Amino acid sequence: MLFTFQLKTPSHGLINITPEIREAVKESGVMEGICVVFCPHTTAAITINENADPDVKADFINGMDSFFPDLNIFEHSEGNSGAHIKSSVVGAGETIIITGGRPLLGTWQDVYFCEFDGPRNRKFYVKII
Ligand code: ZN
Repeated sequence: MLFTFQLKTPSHGLINITPEIREAVKESGVMEGICVVFCPHTTAAITINENADPDVKADFINGMDSFFPDLNIFEHSEGNSGAHIKSSVVGAGETIIITGGRPLLGTWQDVYFCEFDGPRNRKFYVKII
């Protein structure tokens, strides 16, 4: 079963998409299986990280900006090569085990849509098998 979700993103940041994923798993009726979360964009990504301290989200974005800045050696005319690099480094998706009809996430884990070049209208897919 394939679910498509739309979201409007800020200029950059981590958006918690765990509620949408939990709802999709519930609606699918799959009790034991696999959930694939996929981002079809080249300047955004999907990751799993801490849900307790909001500073982790800010540190994640600030760290990525420090490690992968837009450098004047880049040739890509859109001027967002840093965002393209972050997208590939973080990755386009995550795979989550489903057991007991629920996504198997750790206590401190949530799933995030990572915006590196917003604001934009974005979407992500959740495939449940
Ligand atoms: Zn570009």
